[in-house]
Amino acid sequence: MSSRDPADLHESIRATALQFLVQANAVLKLTSPDLEVRFTCTWRPQFEQDALYAQGRTKPGPKVTWVTNSAHNTDLPETPRGDAEAFDVGVFEQGRYLPGANGRELALYQRLGPIGEKLGLVWGGRWKSSPDFPHYERANWRTQR
Ligand SMILES: [Zn+2]
Repeated sequence: MSSRDPADLHESIRATALQFLVQANAVLKLTSPDLEVRFTCTWRPQFEQDALYAQGRTKPGPKVTWVTNSAHNTDLPETPRGDAEAFDVGVFEQGRYLPGANGRELALYQRLGPIGEKLGLVWGGRWKSSPDFPHYERANWRTQR
């Protein structure tokens, strides 16, 4: 089971992630008090990443990931909890999850990206081939531990 607990983030990104959450909520609340940003994933076990990778390749469904080791599970073969260098957020309206499926919802995710970037995070929404709007990770996590 993947985690949405910030305690499962590596110390190199945890404080920034919590800062992001506070700032992102402040911005969305200006739009509507009904909106809220929450973590939807911090740490993900390797077997779940492997299952996601299989989707759209050896298993049915759309492709949802392009890597077998993401920043959610940084070490192969198994990342211990507390070692994730990425987090995903969800925007919720009156407690209902907004997946970013239409223009209005997507615009909400796009407003959050620059907040993360100002904090020095890499925002998945900038990825050209397959943008990942809810995703944020620590820059250079692959090379600098
Ligand atoms: Zn992610």
